[in-house]
Amino acid sequence: MAASSVAASELLHNMNKQIWILCPKASCIIRRISTTSSRCYSQRQLRAKSAPQQLVGVVGLEIHAQINSNTKLFSGSPVRFSAPPNSLVSFFDSSLPGTLPVLNRRCVEAAVMTGLALNCTINRKSLFDRKHYFYADLPAGYQITQQRRPIAVDGELTYNLLGGKNRNQVIRKTVNIKQIQLEQDSGKSLHDDVHSQTLIDLNRAGVGLMELVMEPDMSCGEEAAAAVRELQLILQALGTCQGNMSEGQLRVDANVSVHRPGEPLGIRTEVKNINSIRYLARAIDYEIQRQISVLQRGGTVQNETRAYDSKSGETIPMRDKEGLQDYRFMPEPNLPPLIVYGDNASLPTGTDACQAVVVQKIREGLPELPSVKRDRLVRTYGILPEHSFTLVNEDGLVEYFEAVLKATKKEPRKVIGWVTNELLGHLKQQDMSVSQSKVSPPALAELLELQEKGHISSSVAKQVFQEMWRSSGKTASQIIQEQDLGLVSDTAQLHSICQKVVDSNPDEVLAIRNGNKKVLNRLIGLVQRETKGRADPVLVKEILQEKTS
Ligand code: ADP
Ligand code: MG
Repeated sequence: MAASSVAASELLHNMNKQIWILCPKASCIIRRISTTSSRCYSQRQLRAKSAPQQLVGVVGLEIHAQINSNTKLFSGSPVRFSAPPNSLVSFFDSSLPGTLPVLNRRCVEAAVMTGLALNCTINRKSLFDRKHYFYADLPAGYQITQQRRPIAVDGELTYNLLGGKNRNQVIRKTVNIKQIQLEQDSGKSLHDDVHSQTLIDLNRAGVGLMELVMEPDMSCGEEAAAAVRELQLILQALGTCQGNMSEGQLRVDANVSVHRPGEPLGIRTEVKNINSIRYLARAIDYEIQRQISVLQRGGTVQNETRAYDSKSGETIPMRDKEGLQDYRFMPEPNLPPLIVYGDNASLPTGTDACQAVVVQKIREGLPELPSVKRDRLVRTYGILPEHSFTLVNEDGLVEYFEAVLKATKKEPRKVIGWVTNELLGHLKQQDMSVSQSKVSPPALAELLELQEKGHISSSVAKQVFQEMWRSSGKTASQIIQEQDLGLVSDTAQLHSICQKVVDSNPDEVLAIRNGNKKVLNRLIGLVQRETKGRADPVLVKEILQEKTS
């Protein structure tokens, strides 16, 4: 997307050394960027602060996604993370003369599937090229990539930002995808400072990558982070990439520049070494602010590669002359053009349908994508959109939620709170995944049923959940029985407790009698405290109303 598509109204206001930047594509979102924090502001709020200067950030991402396949892109070597060094290397991967590439169909299918999920046009014919550079972990001296004609082009990624006062308003945005190309990964260089030597591990050499090139359509770290998170969810739903950033399965390079809207795009820097989504947002916001400061001091932004240092939160120049490098691209002579077919009918006679890549077949096999899943959850269960985000964000949480629903009559809108607060809270606290939960969906369903039927109060239910988590294996009814947590509905007993509370709180009683009915809740709370949350809330309310009338 060119500069002209950037919103015309933008503001930068350098006030009290704080820099205000409008995210032009965020319709109403503006960020205040400082080295330590950034916040969003409404356009109106910012317009109120007249702006002497106007600069906005422009962000374009290049993302390398490691294809989830058993073997490499052009060889039969297995693909595995953290195997012993050089244990997954074929003759081809080590570039022995005379070895030839054999294209892995699974990798092509993964790229087509990803392209379809991102609304790309799939090129029926794409080409492989050699990109030359000299590096120890690239034994051939070139990488096979798709420079001239990539497999997929002209797509888009729709992602969401949470905005509004309580950050519960979903703002839908789109970033254009220029292309998706298939290419080989390089090996890894391991620097041994003690012995002053560099060791090479070729396990990763030749692993299939999809490089996704996005147009410079975004304008701040928050947008980039939201887009990458959505992409990660999509790739995981498709199964085409596991998307683990810390293991290098998803590597994001951020191109960042600043300019005045309406004017041509500014000179960009490329920030590398970003290995988490949180750092991506920070690196971009830092870089935007740094470039603005450079320009404001009368300097110029250098077209350079920078690295993000997560410790200092800064980007620093990398000693690398990539901008000047001549890659001497040439067609890969050992690979014919890559042909994919629209449907079975378009297969040339005699072609084995099982060997060919057929777009229609892949389209039919597309799974439910995260955005569709979220819409379905909101529609089917009447939950809030922000809850649908929480559910889809956590691997396995939708399945957990639906399994609980199957086993209980409790309304989905009531179950959702348990799943997103109690369950997720406990999981996060112990850094556990949903599959490791100490409380299974049927066990939670049983607890919710007991509460629904009035056997326990809601505060006791939370207590029981904690106990179930701690003593995994015990059922809710066992715990309730053992600890005598059942609801107290004995009217005589409740009368006497309520009387005690009424007698010792004359001011509250007076307030209620004077018409302040809300104060009754305080008395109900005191009764619950007496009974450790076990008193039947309906009965308690009735009794207290009677005693304070
Ligand atoms: P090159 O051919 O030099 O690699 P591309 O046009 O392919 O440049 O862009 C590479 C990446 O840089 C893309 O993700 C694109 O969105 C991004 N990009 C290009 N120009 C800018 C800019 N001025 N500011 C921010 N990002 C940019
Ligand atoms: Mg490029």
